[in-house]
Amino acid sequence: MNTTQPLGNLLPEIRRKALKRVDKRPPHELAASWSGDDLLYSGPGKSIFIVLPTPGCAWALAGLGGCSMCSYIADSPLQKVSSQELVKIFKEHFQRQMQKQDIHVPTSIKIFVSGSFLNTEEIPKNAQKEILKIINEYEDVEEVVVESRPEYVNEDVLRDCCSMIPGKILEVAIGLESADDEIRINKINKGFARKDFEKAMEVINQLKSDFDVRVKAYLLVKPILTSEKDAIDDAVKSAQYAERAGAGRVSFCPSTIHKGTLMEILWRRGAYQPPWIWSTLEIIRKVKNTVKIPVIMDTAGFGTRRGPFNCKKCNSKLKDAIIKSNINQTIPEEFECECKVKWKADLEFSDVTRSTTNLLKNR
Ligand SMILES: [Zn+2]
Repeated sequence: MNTTQPLGNLLPEIRRKALKRVDKRPPHELAASWSGDDLLYSGPGKSIFIVLPTPGCAWALAGLGGCSMCSYIADSPLQKVSSQELVKIFKEHFQRQMQKQDIHVPTSIKIFVSGSFLNTEEIPKNAQKEILKIINEYEDVEEVVVESRPEYVNEDVLRDCCSMIPGKILEVAIGLESADDEIRINKINKGFARKDFEKAMEVINQLKSDFDVRVKAYLLVKPILTSEKDAIDDAVKSAQYAERAGAGRVSFCPSTIHKGTLMEILWRRGAYQPPWIWSTLEIIRKVKNTVKIPVIMDTAGFGTRRGPFNCKKCNSKLKDAIIKSNINQTIPEEFECECKVKWKADLEFSDVTRSTTNLLKNR
């Protein structure tokens, strides 16, 4: 592995400063929920998203600075939240969203904890079970998606979770980000290796004989210190790897600049730009031609100042086309716009890696 670690001690320092600036808010104010059309394993349906205020991602708080693009910790209460309170908050949001639903729509429940649902330090075991028990009462819910780092995927916790929702799919979404250890460890500071992901996959695969448990791999499009062309290549290779490793779905997260991150600092200095929307389109094409599992491209920050961007003329047109392709899993048709030549020039000539590494050295 490459030992030139350009991030050095930068990340812990950035995280410390960012944490100092966090405005502490009570847990119930940090909870959120919404719903939208989505692609389920059984086909088109609805998703309900619920953000739960847990104490905060253990990795972001571990003292090594956490991930170079992530600021979820700023939305965490940074204090212990009792099981009782977590379950109460979940129940309120969940029931409110379920009441809004049309009758009998296949539904997926996505629980975001800004960290790892399977880490019992973040969500105590009795809260995990109680939340799943509430969900299990609803027949329209076909799948439950929880997020976790691979080190918290263990047979004991998973068995307990799965047995609360018999007949439903439990999907563990793991932020693999990249299949490349050098990118994941040195550029993203993710703190785990491919072999850790594979170990988690093994635990999950062994449970498949008893439960319907699956894995979604989150992949980051364009980590810092990566050129536009390398970002596309890495995204495509990473999706192919995730499928080989046994993931049931892949979800791409193109970079958006979040406050208090190293990514933001580089962006402010002109040493980083989120990917072109053209690049995300190219990734969809290349992946759909080589990978069979469903592939989702998250379009959340598209067309914003801090998100993936083409030009004002084509941003929303392309965003709509990608949302459509997420639902029906087709490849968006060819588009033309005058900004495309600039993107092509970026693919051919940009080499941000070298210039940014120097910029960090001369800091
Ligand atoms: Zn354009």
